[in-house]
Amino acid sequence: AAMVKETIRVYARVKPLGRRQQAGSYSVDNEEPLPSLEITVPRDLADGFINNKRESYKFKFQKIFDQEAKQDVIFDSIAKPVAECVLAGYNGTIFAYGQTGSGKTFTITGGAERYSDRGIIPRTLSYIFDQLQKDSSKVYTTHVSYLEIYNECGYDLLDPRHEASRMEDLPKVTIMEDSDQNIHLKNLSLQQATNEEEALNLLFLGDTNRMIAETPMNQASSRSHCIFTIHISSKEPGSATIRRSKLHLVDLAGSERVAKTGIGGHLLTEAKYINLSLHYLEQVIIALAEKNRSHIPYRNSMMTSVLRDSLGGNCMTTMIAMLAMDKRNIDESISTCRFAQRVALIKNEAVLNEEIDPRLMIVQLKKEIQDLKDELALVTGKQRTSELSQEELLQLDELIETFLKDNDPDSSLDVGADMRKIKYCFIHMKQIINHPMTSGKKLLSQDMSEEKDSNEELEKLKGLLQQRDNEINILVTMLKKEKKKAQDTLSQLNATSAGYTVLEQSPSMSLEESQSPPRCSSLKEEKVVSSSIPRLPFLSRATGGKMSLGCQEAFEVFKRDHADSITIEDNKQLLKQRFDEAKCLGEKLNEVRNKINHLKGKIIQRQIQRAALAVSNPSEELTFDPVEENLRMQIEEEKKSYKAVYSRFKGLKVEIEHLQLLMEKVKMKLQKDFEVWWSEEAKKLQQEKPQMVASPNTVNPVYPQFIRSSQHLSPISFSDTSRDSPNEDPAVKKNSVTFGSPTLKTRTPPSSSTSIPLTGDSQADADILAFIKARQNILQKKG
Ligand code: ADP
Ligand code: MG
Repeated sequence: AAMVKETIRVYARVKPLGRRQQAGSYSVDNEEPLPSLEITVPRDLADGFINNKRESYKFKFQKIFDQEAKQDVIFDSIAKPVAECVLAGYNGTIFAYGQTGSGKTFTITGGAERYSDRGIIPRTLSYIFDQLQKDSSKVYTTHVSYLEIYNECGYDLLDPRHEASRMEDLPKVTIMEDSDQNIHLKNLSLQQATNEEEALNLLFLGDTNRMIAETPMNQASSRSHCIFTIHISSKEPGSATIRRSKLHLVDLAGSERVAKTGIGGHLLTEAKYINLSLHYLEQVIIALAEKNRSHIPYRNSMMTSVLRDSLGGNCMTTMIAMLAMDKRNIDESISTCRFAQRVALIKNEAVLNEEIDPRLMIVQLKKEIQDLKDELALVTGKQRTSELSQEELLQLDELIETFLKDNDPDSSLDVGADMRKIKYCFIHMKQIINHPMTSGKKLLSQDMSEEKDSNEELEKLKGLLQQRDNEINILVTMLKKEKKKAQDTLSQLNATSAGYTVLEQSPSMSLEESQSPPRCSSLKEEKVVSSSIPRLPFLSRATGGKMSLGCQEAFEVFKRDHADSITIEDNKQLLKQRFDEAKCLGEKLNEVRNKINHLKGKIIQRQIQRAALAVSNPSEELTFDPVEENLRMQIEEEKKSYKAVYSRFKGLKVEIEHLQLLMEKVKMKLQKDFEVWWSEEAKKLQQEKPQMVASPNTVNPVYPQFIRSSQHLSPISFSDTSRDSPNEDPAVKKNSVTFGSPTLKTRTPPSSSTSIPLTGDSQADADILAFIKARQNILQKKG
C-alpha cells in the first residue's frame, strides 16, 4: 500500500487579544522555507517569573496564523490538506493544543455567533461531502463519532441518553485492543451521516451534550478532550477492495500547568499539567521524538490510546498550537511552543487503508472461477466439474499406491495438469504421513492390516478348537463313567446269574457295548439296567442309530403286537389333546392380558383428562371418579379370570410333563422287552445252529409269530445282506424310520417354536420355556 512518511505538521495560531489585554511581545516570520515565531519576554516580567537569562525564544512552525487570520484561511491551510488525504484513504488527525481560552474550541468547532466563525469541523464536513458528491467513481459511506474524555473516562457525546442522564450515569466508552493491537472503542456509537446536514446535526447534538455535562463546578470543556471523528469508507463499484479512513478533529483539554511554588517563593517553570492525560500525551511525544525508542507509553491514558495511530503511527497528523499572546499568558504560550517543537520532530507513516471485503471478494472470485472454467471448457472441449468422480478418485488412489511402492528414484506421480487431482494427491499423502495406520490403510499398511485380520481369525479359531477339545474330553470322561457304571452293574448281575457268555455277540449289543457282559432280563435287574441308561443298538448314537434290517423289522413287528403300543398310542393322543388345550389357554391368557392393558390405558387417559380439568378449574379437587372406579373393577374381573386360566394352564403343564415321562417309560419297557425277546430268540437259534449266532449281523433269523402278522414283509428283508439289495422294499425302510418318528413327535412339541403356546405374559412364558428346557434335558439324558 502507498505510504506517506512525514513529520507531524505543526501550525501556530495566535488568538486575537481581548480589549483589556496587554499584548506580549512577539513577532511572526512566515518566510519560506522556515516560518518562525519569536517571543520576547519583557524585562520587567523576567524578574523572578521567567529565568531572566533568556529574553527571546524562537520557534519554528509550518506556518503561523496571527490574530487576524480568519476561520476560512485556517481551514484552507491546515484542515483542507488533511481532509484531502482522508478522502484518498489515509487517516488524519488535527489537534488543537493550548491553554484554556487560547481558542482551541473556536478553531476546531467554531464560534457560536457568526456563520463565518465556523470552525474546522463544520468546514471539513462541508468540504468532504462536497468532494464525495463530486466523485461518482466510488461508493462512499460516512459515519461520525464524538468522544469526550474526562477524567480518563470516555463518553459518547452522540448517545441520545445524554440529554436525559447525568454524565456519570452514561455508559462509559472503553478501549479494547484486538490481537493485531488495533484499538476499538466500546460504547462509542458510529452514526451514519449521508450528507452535510446530517453530520452537522450530529455535531450540534454532541456539542449540546458537551455543554449540558458542563456545570459551573466542573469546567468540563477545559478539562476534557473532545474527539470528533469522521469515518469514511469507499469502494469502486465491482471491486472488493474497500478503503477506510478516519479523520480525528481533536479539541484537547487546556494545557495550562499548575504553577508550583518553589523554595524561596520562586515559581518553577517546569510546572505540572492540570490535566494528567496531557502529561501522558507529552510523555508519548517525548518518547516518539527520541530516536530508537522502542517503548512508547500510549497505554498510560485513554487519550494517548485513542490517538495512538495519530501519533507516530499510521496517520497524517497536524497540530495547531493555540497561543494567547497577552503578557500574562506568555509563559504558557512558550510552553505550548516548546511542546509544539517536540511534536514537530515526530515522523508519521501514513498508510493507505485498503482492505478486502470478504463477501465482495467471494462474489468477485466466483465470477473469476466461472470465467476460467468457461475458458478451460473452451480450450479442452470438456466441461469440468468441481468434484472428482469416484472412478477418478480410485484411479488416483491406485496411482499413489504404485508410486509409493515404487523404489525407483526416477518414478514420478503423474496425474496430469489437473489441479484438483494434484491437490487430492497432496491431501492423500498428508493423510498417509499423519495417520499411517488409519487413512493410509488402503495403501501402505494394507498388507499389514490383512495380516492382522487373519491373525485375529486364527486366534479365534484356536480358541474355538480349545473349547471343543475340552467339550470332547468332558464327554469322553462322562461316557467312560457311564460305561463303568454299566459294567459294574452287570458284573454284579453276573455274580448272581452266570452263564450268558453266548450272548456276548448278541445283535442287541452296540459297538461300544460289545465288551460289556450280556443283559439280564429279570424285572428286578431291568430296573437297575434302565437306571444306567439302557440302550438298544438302533438307538445308540455310536452305531449311527442303525441296526441290522432284520433286527429293525423284528422290532417293528414286536412293537405293533405289544400291548404297550396301545398305551403309547393312547398317551400320544392324550398328549396332543393336552397340548392343544395348553395352546388355547395360552391364547386366552394373551387375550385377557391385552384386555387388562387396554383398561389400564383407559384409566390413565381418564386421569390425564381429570388432571387437566383440575388445572383449568382448581376449585374442583380430584375426587372420587365413578368411571375410573368402574374401569378398576373391570380390571379386577379380568385379573380373576386371568388367574383362573393361568392356574389351569399350569396344571396342564404338569399333566403334559407327566404324560411325556410315562410315554418314555413305556417306550423303554417296549425296547427292553424286545431286547429280552430277541436274545431269547437268538438263544433258541443258537441251540439249533450255533455257528450262525457267532455273527449276528449275518444271521437270517426267523420270527414265525411276527411274520404271520406282517404280510408286507418279505423273508428277504430279514437278511442283513439285503441292505444294498435292489429287492429291498422301500416300505420296510420307511417303516424302520417311522419308529423314531412318533417318539420324536411326542417328545419335541415343546421345542418346536411354532407349537409353543406362548401367552405373552412374561411369567407364564418363562414358566413354559423353563419347562421346555427341563424336558429337553431329561430327554437328552435318556436319549
Ligand atoms: P479554548 O477552547 O481554548 O478554551 P475558546 O475557543 O473557548 O478557547 O476561546 C475562548 C474565547 O475566545 C471564546 O469566547 C472564543 O470565541 C474567543 N476566540 C478564540 N479564538 C478566537 C478567534 N480566532 N477569533 C475570535 N474569537 C476567538
Ligand atoms: Mg475549549
